[in-house]
Amino acid sequence: MHKKLLIAGGGIGGLAAALACARAGWSMELLEQSPVFGEVGAGIQLGPNVVKVLREMGLEPGLQRVAAYPSQLEVRNAVSTERLAVFPLGKVTEQRYGAPYVSIARADMHTLLLDAVRQHDSVGLHLDSRLAGISTTDHSVRVETVQDQAFEAPLLVGADGLWSQVRKEVIDDGAPRVTGHLAFRAMLPQSTLPVPLRSQVVTAWMGPDFHAVHYPVRAGEWLNVVCIVHGKVVGDPQSWDHSANAHELRSRMSQARGALRDLIYAIDQWRLWPLCDREPMGSAAEHAKGRIALLGDAAHPMRPYLAQGAGMAIEDAAALARCISETPQEIPHALQRYAEMRWQRNARVQARAIQNGKIYHLKGLAQVGRDLSLKLLGARLIDVPWLYNGP
Ligand code: FAD
Repeated sequence: MHKKLLIAGGGIGGLAAALACARAGWSMELLEQSPVFGEVGAGIQLGPNVVKVLREMGLEPGLQRVAAYPSQLEVRNAVSTERLAVFPLGKVTEQRYGAPYVSIARADMHTLLLDAVRQHDSVGLHLDSRLAGISTTDHSVRVETVQDQAFEAPLLVGADGLWSQVRKEVIDDGAPRVTGHLAFRAMLPQSTLPVPLRSQVVTAWMGPDFHAVHYPVRAGEWLNVVCIVHGKVVGDPQSWDHSANAHELRSRMSQARGALRDLIYAIDQWRLWPLCDREPMGSAAEHAKGRIALLGDAAHPMRPYLAQGAGMAIEDAAALARCISETPQEIPHALQRYAEMRWQRNARVQARAIQNGKIYHLKGLAQVGRDLSLKLLGARLIDVPWLYNGP
């Protein structure tokens, strides 16, 4: 039988799915609405659970070339600047979980995946191809694009992100919810920063109604900074990359002190993301229906406070390739197994991310209690064995 599929979306999730499926002997057409493949200038962290999957996809040598391998994660109070806890990464993570913890520019991750996908003649990459219509029969799914192309295959994977169109075919639950949190992001060469602000570790600063995280990317040569504040959406939430005003960020984080304050005053160029998510998944039915499966943000958009959105998309991709390859002649069953295999883990990560956001932004007595717990229990509170051990 001919093992063929369609993928909507060429972000990290769609490309990871293309790579995992191509390596398992599938041929496919991938439709991406943008005129060029690319990712914006920001970073992501990838836990050992994700690095293990990337290793299985043959991407570890590429990661070693372009990612950073921070030695530890530090948690600090953004107002007192006190160091509250240290969680060892580096060798400790490798020994405990069998893979390192890495931080990488999104564009570099995307390029690693795209280059690997391009090694497979079985993948047709179609840019400027925005999904317009989807119809299913007993044996296939047909998609049409705004540009009047048509494609047909026994299954369709919706990796079309937060505002997924494919999602409507699986579960019609309206638009994502606006969280009321805004992410200001910057990525810049460390050499442009004063020496005391350069860093090779992951640092999380917790303040009242805000937090900030920074970590090295590009083999440690660049620093990625993300600040999360409470605020209204400026402009259209679907346009997820607004130019941002440095003065606005500084006033929203006016209580920040020490190196964090110096950092936000040292950076003038920020980009702004209004953060949206959905309720944690409630059942496998939200992951797949018939011959259509959802993957990554299309299935389970989450707040970035566990740093695992792209990670879960990559885990989804590996699970999907495995399930459809086990029973390629029974696609609806294969997708059902995929959904059963993934939904609870994705729901748990979504829920934990929401909880983390609340903890990071605590005020008053609750904040005092949080800081005390972190000082007493430290790494034990930060570690997430069920997550880092992998699915
Ligand atoms: P997307 O990246 O949104 O890709 C979807 C693709 O589909 C896009 O290329 C889009 O153009 C295309 N598309 C959309 N509609 C159509 C259509 N109709 N037809 C054709 N193509 C279409 N994750 C981590 O793992 N670690 C982190 O540290 C981390 N930090 C983050 C920090 C912030 C501030 C934010 C906002 C997110 C962070 N994430 C992190 C989450 C991560 O970025 C996302 O979960 C991940 O990029 C989702 O990938 P995706 O491929 O599912 O979706």
